[in-house]
Amino acid sequence: MKSCSEELLLHLTERGFQGRIVSARRLHDLQEAIEGFHRKGLVDEEFYQERLAWFDFRIPDSLPKAKSIIVVAVPRPQSQAVFKWNGESQTLILPPTYVAYDDTRKMVEDIVEEILEPKGHRIARTKLPLKLLAVRSGLGTYGRNNICYVVGMGSFLQLVAVYSDMPCHKDSWRKVQMMKRCQNCHACRLKCPTGAIASDRFLLCAERCIVFHNEKPGDIPFPTWIDPSWHNCLVGCLHCQKICPENKDFLQWIEGREQFSEKETALLLCGVALDQLSAQTVRKLKKLDLIEYQASLSRNLGVFIRR
Ligand code: SF4
Ligand code: SF4
Repeated sequence: MKSCSEELLLHLTERGFQGRIVSARRLHDLQEAIEGFHRKGLVDEEFYQERLAWFDFRIPDSLPKAKSIIVVAVPRPQSQAVFKWNGESQTLILPPTYVAYDDTRKMVEDIVEEILEPKGHRIARTKLPLKLLAVRSGLGTYGRNNICYVVGMGSFLQLVAVYSDMPCHKDSWRKVQMMKRCQNCHACRLKCPTGAIASDRFLLCAERCIVFHNEKPGDIPFPTWIDPSWHNCLVGCLHCQKICPENKDFLQWIEGREQFSEKETALLLCGVALDQLSAQTVRKLKKLDLIEYQASLSRNLGVFIRR
């Protein structure tokens, strides 16, 4: 008879996902790694405060007897936003994970809960560094670009993790791993226009990454050292993932496309408030999960329209 954890992992595989289960005692390792980078001054302070300081490595109050962490990789596509402007169409990509991020997280949480609940186990949400967790659990491997790759998915995936009170007697916790292929490949480093992927250290210089800047609120202008021609996505950046040979089978995978008329594009470029946009525009933004970034669209879209 299959154990509860075996049954869960099998169920995830049947859906095309992949998962690993690690002991909740590994939280300490995750905390040490993230805080260690900070203590050693290896992470830009602004990046740390905005992107890493919110992690929570404590067992949640809602599940004080949590014993394990279940981490799952779900294949995810790119999406497209098309903006009409001056009689032409500007098609911009949204990288995997921007669209339906919360829906995907919820879907995985529901699946795990449906399987574990009848067996008397409960789950709780995490606030953890998911890439690091996936790599140390054996689910994924880092690329030189510090993105997490999973066999059969490339880097076109979303990670989800939950706590559970299901015991974990044995896990596959391991040291941080970089893909074997990266040893003789520097394609992402050479393609990255900002120098964020350094030749003398593994850790990304995250403060140089375009993503860090184009996800910021729209009233924060791009730093002057970012050349407008470097932008390649409406939000995020795909230069280092598109050039990666590990992703060659997934590059054409685009799902979800919304088109904005000249009038809608003009309003977005002007940065008008959400409540002044038509219901139809708001619906399109919702479908692309751009409500959160609506206030950044004027700046982000502007670099493509004006260049
Ligand atoms: S482009 Fe090359 S070095 Fe970069 S992550 Fe992919 S395989 Fe590794
Ligand atoms: S996402 Fe873009 S800016 Fe960031 S490391 Fe990759 S190529 Fe460089």
